[in-house]
Amino acid sequence: REIFDSMDYGPAPEGSSEALAWIANHKGRFGHWVGGRFTAPGETFATRNPANGQVLAEVTQGSAADVDAAVKAARGAQAKWARMPGFERAKVLYALARLVQKNARLLAVLETLDNGKPIREARDIDIPLVARHFYYHAGLAQLLDAELPGMEALGVCGAVIPWNFPLLMLAWKVAPALAAGNTVVLKPAEYTPLTALLFAELSVQAGLPKGVLNIVTGDGATGAALVDHPDVNKIAFTGSTSVGKKIRAATAGTGKALTLELGGKSPYIVFDDADLDSAIEGLVDAIWFNQGQVCCAGSRLLVQEGVAERFHEKLKRRMGDLRVGDPLDKCIDVGAVVDPVQLETITRLVEASDGEKFRAPCALPEGGCFCPPTLITGLSAASPLMQEEIFGPVLVSMTFRTPAEAVELANNTRYGLAATVWTENVNLALDIAPKIKAGVVWVNATNLFDAAAGFGGVRESGFGREGGWEGLLAYLKPSGQTKPLKPVAAVAAPSEPLV
Ligand code: NAD
Repeated sequence: REIFDSMDYGPAPEGSSEALAWIANHKGRFGHWVGGRFTAPGETFATRNPANGQVLAEVTQGSAADVDAAVKAARGAQAKWARMPGFERAKVLYALARLVQKNARLLAVLETLDNGKPIREARDIDIPLVARHFYYHAGLAQLLDAELPGMEALGVCGAVIPWNFPLLMLAWKVAPALAAGNTVVLKPAEYTPLTALLFAELSVQAGLPKGVLNIVTGDGATGAALVDHPDVNKIAFTGSTSVGKKIRAATAGTGKALTLELGGKSPYIVFDDADLDSAIEGLVDAIWFNQGQVCCAGSRLLVQEGVAERFHEKLKRRMGDLRVGDPLDKCIDVGAVVDPVQLETITRLVEASDGEKFRAPCALPEGGCFCPPTLITGLSAASPLMQEEIFGPVLVSMTFRTPAEAVELANNTRYGLAATVWTENVNLALDIAPKIKAGVVWVNATNLFDAAAGFGGVRESGFGREGGWEGLLAYLKPSGQTKPLKPVAAVAAPSEPLV
């Protein structure tokens, strides 16, 4: 809390000039970050601003040879990095956290330009959480030798991340890996590579030794090359369930450690005694934060029959107040969807659905990937939109009668990432929360994240936790140098039978 309160974000971002100047300094073309410097750009592809379609920069499509060079750099740096005392690694992580704070404005604007998320969110949520994650893991690095003697780093970790929280997902992977003494090769998502590249530059200022962090840009083929590389000890993946399954198959039998943070279709349960106005505000955050492109988005509203009509009416009224627009405008609530491909997928799914659709009556700007906040009612529990992740600003809604039915509906998907329960009856909340199959259940709240709390899913939402000691343990193994337990002194066989 003190860290948050003391953060100085500088003046509110008014424009994109600083971020565009950073891109221009690199002549708008980026190679990979290997061994502490940028490689020469190779075959490139464009990364665009989804709010207006303009090309922001060209980044290099990573080949298997590029991945190999990055893994070699990471391997070369690993032993020395792991041998450093934890408090020495902590110093670098503290410096990284501080540099994220110092450059918060630049990072936030660059994230918004590349991803389309509202600047208010990038500045007040993404970037502070990134800094918090590095501060927290600096603390863990400092404590590691004393708290977890006999544990050592896994080695070289490959990280493959999605585009919805580009820098935050980097932090979730890189901070614990580095704290534990691993080195990293990171593959950012193809739509949003820029903040990772800026972060790489900042890592030099923080004193991160060369080769400890390497970044190879590219699409899924680059990610697959990293997953398949024989000299990688662990893969940490965040992304879709379908790609997660491929990665699990590709790593099976290789001895590589694996954590998977995958998709979700998280229920948002409103009981009839709930404080409905608060539940509405929670729901706006649950499904329209980051245009609904959130793995744990409360995308499935389950509302108790007695208040369903009133709740839907209030919700539609509230949707009328949402402002969709230029993500750099501090006053907007909903920005641009990350890419035209994603917008098309969302539109196709919504149009194919036979439910009753309510689209927020807001003006949509021309020329960008804008999608109106949408509510769909009247679907059956088995309908595809009730079952599958849409990953856009689309809420589906059903009613229930009893707490038991709410639990049954909540668990009626293949996922298990998060859930929200809204009720004034704490006994009811505490009764049903453990019955819901989810990695986290929020009560009268939603989207609460903290670096100290393990986050992750069950069922097809993946396995492993990120954050807290639990998350750090996923980057450690029992040390080969642990002294073997003293052999138990041989017990002499009784000379006489005991009975
Ligand atoms: P995605 O699975 O398409 O891509 C994720 C990353 O994997 C990208 O970097 C991509 O280039 C790479 N990739 C694609 N194919 C690959 C392959 N065969 N081998 C290796 N890497 C490959 O997902 P996305 O569309 O970028 O992100 C959205 C998904 O991520 C959603 O399903 C969302 O729920 C999930 N997500 C989960 C969490 C979580 O913590 N559980 C957090 C954020 C996002």
